[in-house]
Amino acid sequence: MKIREITCAIEDIAPLYLQESWDNAGMQVGDAEREVTGVLLCTDVREETIDEAIERGANVIISHHPLLFRGLKKITGRTYQERVVTAAIKHDIAIYCAHTNMDSAVGGVNFKMAEKLGLKNVRVLSQQQGTMRKVVVFVPVDAAHNVVEAMCNAGAGRLGNYDNCSYKMNGEGSYRALDGADPWSGNVGEMHHEPEMRVEVLVHKALCGRVVRAMIKAHPYEEPAFDILALENGDKYAGLGVIGEIEAQDAREFLETVKCAFEVETLRYSGDLNRKVRSVAMCGGAGAEFAGLAMAQGADLYITGDMKYHEFQGNEERIIIADIGHYESEHYTKEIFYDIIRKKNPNFAVDFALSEKNQVNYL
Ligand SMILES: [Zn+2]
Repeated sequence: MKIREITCAIEDIAPLYLQESWDNAGMQVGDAEREVTGVLLCTDVREETIDEAIERGANVIISHHPLLFRGLKKITGRTYQERVVTAAIKHDIAIYCAHTNMDSAVGGVNFKMAEKLGLKNVRVLSQQQGTMRKVVVFVPVDAAHNVVEAMCNAGAGRLGNYDNCSYKMNGEGSYRALDGADPWSGNVGEMHHEPEMRVEVLVHKALCGRVVRAMIKAHPYEEPAFDILALENGDKYAGLGVIGEIEAQDAREFLETVKCAFEVETLRYSGDLNRKVRSVAMCGGAGAEFAGLAMAQGADLYITGDMKYHEFQGNEERIIIADIGHYESEHYTKEIFYDIIRKKNPNFAVDFALSEKNQVNYL
C-alpha cells in the first residue's frame, strides 16, 4: 500500500478543502508515493514520536495537530519542529496531519466525541457558510443523464448519506447558429428549438471547477449554457462542533460520565450543576467561540477546551460550560485514523503512539 492510498482514504472523510483558512493540514513531510511499512497514530508529532516510529519500523506518522503551521526558514535543530523535520527526513518517515478538516467533517473529531458520550441525533453546530454552489445547466433531453452522471462523478450531488442527487425539469432551449458554428442539432442560419432539461446539482465550491469542466466535456453543445450560483445555505454536513441529545439527567452525574469517557482528571465549569441536562453541544480543542451558538441552539451543556476565565461568564443561568482540556477532548481522534486505515486494510500494521502523553499536567 502506498502512503497516498492512506491519505486519500482519510481525505474521503475529511477533504482538505474543509480546513480553516489559517490551517496547514495534509502532507507535512515525505513522499506520498512511497510504500508504507507501518503507521503510527498520534495527536501531536514530537521527537519521541519519531523515535517510536523508528523503533516500530513505521514510516508514516499521522497526527491530528499539524507539525508545521508556518514556513520554516532555517532547519538547524533550534526548535522541536526543526528537529522533528530533520529526523523524519533522515529516517525516511512521512508525516501527515488531518486537523481542522477532520474537526469539520461528519464522522470527524466532534462526531467521535459525541459517540463517546452516546449522543443521539448529532448534527453540526456551526455550519460552514458560503461554501455551497449550485450548478444549473441546460441540456438536450437525451444527453441529460450523461451530463448529470459526469458532474456527480466529479463530486457534485452529495447530500449527507445520498449521492447522485440532482433535479431535472423539462423545457425548451432555442438558438440560431451563426457562420462558423457546428450545431449539434439544427442548421446554420436557422432558428432552432430544442427540447432541453434544466439540470441542477449542488457542489462544494472547492469542487466547482472540476464539476463544470466535467459537465462541459459531457455536454453535446459547442456552447453549453450554465449558471454557477453561490448559495446562502450553510453546509449541514461540514462545520465545527456538534450538538445532540442524551436522556435527561443530572448535570453533575453527566459531567462525571464525561470525565470518565475522556479520561479527564479535572475539569473546569461554570453554571448550575443542579440542573438537568438533555441537549449537549461540544467542540474539540479550543472552542470558546461557539459557546454562544450552543446556547442559541438550546444546549444545556457545552463541552470544549481552552476556555479563558471571562469566556465562562455571563450565562451561568442558561448553560453549563465545561472545559475538559484541549488534549483530552481530542485524543480519540487517533481512533478515527485507526478505523479508516483498518477498513482499507484489516491486517495493516497501524498503532497508537505509546510515547504520546498530554504535555499539560495537573498537580
Ligand atoms: Zn486541537
